[in-house]
Amino acid sequence: MQQVDIPAAPLEVLALLLPAERWFRLKEKAAHARDLLSDRVVWNVSATAEGGGVAEMLHTLLAYGRGAGVDLRWLVLDGDPEFFAITKRIHNALHGAEDDGHRLGAAEHEHYERVLRGNLAELTTLVRPGDIVLLHDPQTAGFVEAMHAVGAHVVWRCHIGRDDPTAATARGWDFLRGYLQDADAFVFSRRAYVPTWVVSDRVRAIAPSIDPFSTKNRDLDDVEVDTVLRQVGLIAGRDASPSLEFTRRDGTTGVVRRHTHLLSGPPPPADARLVVQVSRWDLLKDMAGVLSAFADFIVPATSDVHLILAGPAVAGVSDDPEGAQVLAACRAAWARLPDPVRARCHLACIPMDDVDENAIIVNALQRRATVVVQKSLQEGFGLTVTEAMWKSRPMLASAVGGIQEQIVDGREGLLLTDPRDLPGFAARLQMLLDDPAMAEHLGRAGHQRVEDDFIGDRHLIQLVDLFEDLLGAVPTAASGLTTARPGRLS
Ligand code: UDP
Repeated sequence: MQQVDIPAAPLEVLALLLPAERWFRLKEKAAHARDLLSDRVVWNVSATAEGGGVAEMLHTLLAYGRGAGVDLRWLVLDGDPEFFAITKRIHNALHGAEDDGHRLGAAEHEHYERVLRGNLAELTTLVRPGDIVLLHDPQTAGFVEAMHAVGAHVVWRCHIGRDDPTAATARGWDFLRGYLQDADAFVFSRRAYVPTWVVSDRVRAIAPSIDPFSTKNRDLDDVEVDTVLRQVGLIAGRDASPSLEFTRRDGTTGVVRRHTHLLSGPPPPADARLVVQVSRWDLLKDMAGVLSAFADFIVPATSDVHLILAGPAVAGVSDDPEGAQVLAACRAAWARLPDPVRARCHLACIPMDDVDENAIIVNALQRRATVVVQKSLQEGFGLTVTEAMWKSRPMLASAVGGIQEQIVDGREGLLLTDPRDLPGFAARLQMLLDDPAMAEHLGRAGHQRVEDDFIGDRHLIQLVDLFEDLLGAVPTAASGLTTARPGRLS
């Protein structure tokens, strides 16, 4: 297993943003958490340290938690390609994706368990009785029993799901259910994802959050945005100004490098309006659908609008074996476009060898976008949506999964009811392009929504509430000290 190094971030940074009342509530909870958890470790176990929403969120959330004085740690399991192929199949099944012809049967159980057993020697020496273990997503479900045997409190946190059960979701849950039955608590990003067999008083619905001060989300002015995008070749024109510096998670300073091969072809002109989708190369993000709708409907109706589909350089996301195939299919579809259409569509692979540089590039791209889209066919939560809303970008997204937690259609963005409806998608996109006043209004409302509901204070407080329930302790009214009460969840 790999232990991810999480430098502590001072919680006080959030005071710069939060209204006083929220800040005091957070400070109080942090003091209570220190008292409650004392010398316990809160372990997080996941499948990858980079790429995707879970990794994105854990880096910043755990940093604030450590800054608040709680011993939060993060372990990433070791798996082989077959293991990640199986867990990706489970992931797709829980999203209701059609059967890809592969089974989730006895051989898959056997391989899944063998890989997890290979991680257990290390995990069981690290985790002590009384610790709390947060197991993230299907890849870690098989650790529940062993963590119980060690004497830890075990929470399984699921970041994916689908509102309406299907035969595919049933297949996915059938695979996982036996491993999960005894978890002390379950956390889902959305209540609609909870399968019927989970005992309801063990469930918490906790939505993810973003960090407004991370490299991915911090303010950049127009000059900085331009500097980054020119430097990395995502818009035309070599930048004459000194390249932008950024602060890494570990506190060191990085510099945005010159890149020459991020894009599939020549970059958009400096004055182009951009439509942007940032996603992993995953079939459920439907990059190909965005490309097709843009090419067929938006290119003929506009002259200055370009599309950038941006995803990670595929070797960088270890738990996502489909990435290379999906990117190849997008490249093939792009290559088939007529020349003048292809010149307006761009596929960008953002390097992952320097995740902080990756973050500032994504930040600049989202900020430079005239409209950000997220035309996912299913979406666990969709941090890319939260990130773009935080940047006050007008957002057009599918009305699926966790995106519906974030956007009310016409209030904080526009929603597409049927994510496969390409003409409908294009019509809404054209509306946003044609009506800058409406776009600005939606962008402002989106920013406010994120500020109200999707910043780390709410998230951290919900986690402390969960820990209270797990440990069977409540704060006494004024002192912040804890008293024992029978554990509700354990
Ligand atoms: N992301 C990134 N670089 C990329 C593509 C995506 O950092 O090239 C990030 C994106 O900014 C977001 C996360 O990956 O923070 C994706 O999270 P989301 O919840 O949207 O989807 P997931 O990948 O978890 O399905």
